[in-house]
Amino acid sequence: MTRNHNITVLAGDGIGPEVMIQALRVLDVACAKFGFTVQRERCLVGGAAIDAVGCPLPKETVEACDKADAILFGSVGGPKWENLAPDEQPERGALLPLRKHFGLFANLRPGVCLPELSHASPVKNELIPNGFDVLCVRELTGGIYFGTPKGRKEENGDNVAFDTMVYSKSEIDRICRVAFTAAMARDKCLCSVDKANVLQSSVLWRETVIEVSKDFPEVELSHMYVDNAAMQLVKQPTSFDVMVTGNLFGDILSDEMAMIAGSLGMLPSASLGQRKESGLYFGMYEPSGGSAPDIAGQGIANPIAQILSVSMMLRYSLGEAEAADAIDAAVNAAIASGMRTGDLYTGEEGETKATTDEMGEAIITALQL
Ligand code: NAD
Repeated sequence: MTRNHNITVLAGDGIGPEVMIQALRVLDVACAKFGFTVQRERCLVGGAAIDAVGCPLPKETVEACDKADAILFGSVGGPKWENLAPDEQPERGALLPLRKHFGLFANLRPGVCLPELSHASPVKNELIPNGFDVLCVRELTGGIYFGTPKGRKEENGDNVAFDTMVYSKSEIDRICRVAFTAAMARDKCLCSVDKANVLQSSVLWRETVIEVSKDFPEVELSHMYVDNAAMQLVKQPTSFDVMVTGNLFGDILSDEMAMIAGSLGMLPSASLGQRKESGLYFGMYEPSGGSAPDIAGQGIANPIAQILSVSMMLRYSLGEAEAADAIDAAVNAAIASGMRTGDLYTGEEGETKATTDEMGEAIITALQL
C-alpha cells in the first residue's frame, strides 16, 4: 500500500521560493523512487503574507499547518519589512508564533562540513582533513529568553534591567530525550553543555541529563561548560557527535557551528514538538540561514540547506528514513562531482560553478541513479 503524507509548504521571502522549487523537485523524485506520496498545501508566510493579506502569519496558514504532518519552511524577512513594528515583522510575527502554537521545543541543527568543502571552513584545514559532522540540539521554548520576571526598574537611583533563566526538570528531561534518541541513531556520544559551576538552572540541567542517561545506557554522556564548548568547537569539532544545551547557549553555539561549517547555504534545521507514539515528531524544517536579500532573485542561492531540510523532514516527521539517506547521499555526490554554487566556489580545478537550478539538477541526477 502506498504511504501518503501531508505537508504545508511555506516558501516565504527572498531566496525562500527559489530554493524551495529545488527542494520540492528533489522530494518528487524521492517519492517516485521510494513509493510514497507527499501532498503539499502551499500557504503564505512572512513578508509575502504581509503584502498579500496584511499579516505575517495568516489564520489560513496556521489552519493548514494544523492539518499537516510537518511544515517545510523557506525563509522570511527582508529590507522591505524592516521598518514595521517588531511584532509585525516577518520573523517575529511568523516564526515565533508558529513555534509557540506547535510547541516546537527542540531545535536540531546539524553542522556538517563535507571533506571536499573543508577549505571553506575557518577552522585550520589540517584539523579537519575529513570534515566534521556535529548535531546541536538546542532547547527552544524555555530558558532566559522566556523566563519571568524580566523587565527594568529603578533601584537606588540606578536603572536596572533583568531577565530570568529558568528551567523545569520536565523541560530538561524532554529535550534530553530528543538528544539521546538522536545520538542513538549516530555515533552514540552526547555532550551536554551547561554552566553548572555558576548557574542553578545548569545544576538541575546536569542532574536531569544524568538521570535520563540511565534510559540510554549505550550512549556515552559527557558534560562541558559552555565557555569550554565554544573553544573546543573551533579547536576540535571532530571530537563532538551530538551536543545538547539550553536556549541561550544553543543560540550562540549553533551559530558558531554554522560558521565553522563553511556556508550557511549547506545547513538545514528542524524544530520538533513532542514525540508521538509512532516515534515520529511534528516538526518545522527550514534552512539555518535567512532570506539572503543580497542574492535573492539572481538564481544563484545554494539550495542544499532547503533540500537537506526535506531529508530531515522525511527522517523525523514522515518516517521515510531510506529516502532521507538517499537524499543526503545525493547531496554528497553532487558536491563530490565538483558542483559548487557561488557561496562554495573557489575556482579550483575540478569545480563547476552552478546556479540554484543546476545544483538542484545535479542532486536529482545523483538521486535517480
Ligand atoms: P542571511 O542568512 O539571510 O544571509 C547571511 C549571508 O549568508 C548572506 O551573505 C547570504 O547571501 C548568505 N546566504 C544565506 N543563505 C544562503 C544560501 N542558501 N546560498 C548562498 N548564500 C546564502 O542573514 P541576514 O542577511 O542577516 O538576514 C537577511 C534577512 O533574513 C533578514 O530580514 C532576517 O531577518 C531574515 N532571517 C530570516 C530567518 C528565517 O526565516 N528563519 C533567519 C535568519 C534571518
